[in-house]
Amino acid sequence: MSNEQKPAATAESTLADIVSHAKEYGFVFPSSEIYDGLAAVYDYGPNGVELKNNLKQLWWRAMTQLNQNVVGIDAAIFMHPLTWKASGHVDGFSDPMIDNLDSKKRYRADVLLEEKAAEYENAGDQVRADALLAEMGRLLTAEDLAGVKQLILEEKILCPVSKTGNWTDVRQFNLMFSTQVGAVADDSSKIYLRPETAQGIFVNFLNVQKSARQKVPFGIAQIGKAFRNEIVARQFIFRMREFEQMEMQFFVRPGTEGEWYQTWKETRRRWHEALGLPADKLRFHDHDKLAHYAKAAVDIEFEFPFGFKEIEGIHSRSDFDLTQHQNLSRKKQQYFDNDLNPETGKPYGNYVPYVVETSVGADRLFLATLCQAYQEETITEGEGEKQQTKTRKLLRLHPAVAPIKAAIFPLVKKDGLPDKANEIYNSLRHDFRLVVEEKDSIGTRYTRQDLIGTPFCIAVDHQTLEDNTVTVRHRDSREQTRMPIAELRSYIGEAVSFSRIFEKL
Ligand code: ATP
Repeated sequence: MSNEQKPAATAESTLADIVSHAKEYGFVFPSSEIYDGLAAVYDYGPNGVELKNNLKQLWWRAMTQLNQNVVGIDAAIFMHPLTWKASGHVDGFSDPMIDNLDSKKRYRADVLLEEKAAEYENAGDQVRADALLAEMGRLLTAEDLAGVKQLILEEKILCPVSKTGNWTDVRQFNLMFSTQVGAVADDSSKIYLRPETAQGIFVNFLNVQKSARQKVPFGIAQIGKAFRNEIVARQFIFRMREFEQMEMQFFVRPGTEGEWYQTWKETRRRWHEALGLPADKLRFHDHDKLAHYAKAAVDIEFEFPFGFKEIEGIHSRSDFDLTQHQNLSRKKQQYFDNDLNPETGKPYGNYVPYVVETSVGADRLFLATLCQAYQEETITEGEGEKQQTKTRKLLRLHPAVAPIKAAIFPLVKKDGLPDKANEIYNSLRHDFRLVVEEKDSIGTRYTRQDLIGTPFCIAVDHQTLEDNTVTVRHRDSREQTRMPIAELRSYIGEAVSFSRIFEKL
């Protein structure tokens, strides 16, 4: 048996392959497809929802189970409208957009410039790429939209559709979706669909701190939907209008935020590696444009088939959010720290804590996991004259996140083998998600499970009826091991346990 990794195909075809694989095998479907879909909205299918739930669980438990000082909440999507005034989203949550007058297509001005910088980088001109990003950052920070347009013209950036540089001015476009509460539609009843989950955490800071009896430093974790009216929604589930975030706000004593920022930056990178995203496909990218309140911000980027792109942001946000909520709500958001300050010998006393946040998109993590797992390899099967070489596709998912942990195959549909397979299924179904498959040849059944990433296939044959042993076939190596049925629980349990990931952290 030999396995040889095939070099990655071209960027576009690889993403297209993944998109069609995701649909065909029940991972991701376009939303409302029978009506020709809804742009930038997707549904997760039977295998997709299992994989996504496993990824969310893995994050949740890494936060709230591995750290006594991180607790969770589940806040509502709707929030008091003043929340978004306080957070700056009403006035400032916008992207610079630009339209091409010939194609009538709309683009994000910063994305056009970033793509140009990536072109320079790919051509080996890192200096020019960095200079362009720095200039863009400077103009955006200064809110110089005319300057941004000028830069697009100077860089001779053309519309990919019309191939012309006939651009409108750059304008800001607010990304929040709004709707009305109650029966009367006027301005006072306008509320927003949250564009991030973080604010649900900030407004509950004191409720959580008191009820969970937490002392600073401590964190609040949350997983939930967020909505953004993205101008350019492309690249499959990478940029959606409805998506899911996994955020953790960590409240610290002012002055200690630098150390905590470094700690969380490293912790989160290790988490992605432990899950199976290789170190050489992950990188840190410092923000070119810092929000005015931010002390530091970095993205963890993954190398997707379409290049290195953000999957998670780590931000040191000072006391900006809590202070803003304190001002608008007129409710103190202070914490009394009774630890002794060694310099004064007195308690640190009252302060508004600083915040270091980690914010990862569940959907982007899902896509990164899928892109990494989706592999095509050349294998040799059989001996002597019967030997043949073929390619196989498989999802090399970490067993802990695989949608199905094991598939049980009776070798034939008779002689009591299906009953034996069902007996094994019933003895293990409290512990793992399993399937029993009787149809098709055993080879076809193996292939089907490889394509959805099932780590183990259990073959039930005539010998099983005699000595209660089965053959366990491993997805990645295709090796087969004979073992007693009585050992399956601990054998599979060991491989699919989250502990295999946690112990690498
Ligand atoms: P981008 O620059 O790509 O628009 P962002 O910097 O605005 O992302 P954050 O506001 O930091 O993103 O959000 C935190 C995380 O939420 C991101 O790292 C990403 O994983 C996820 N996320 C943000 N917007 C989307 C979206 N439209 N679709 C899917 N995931 C998203």
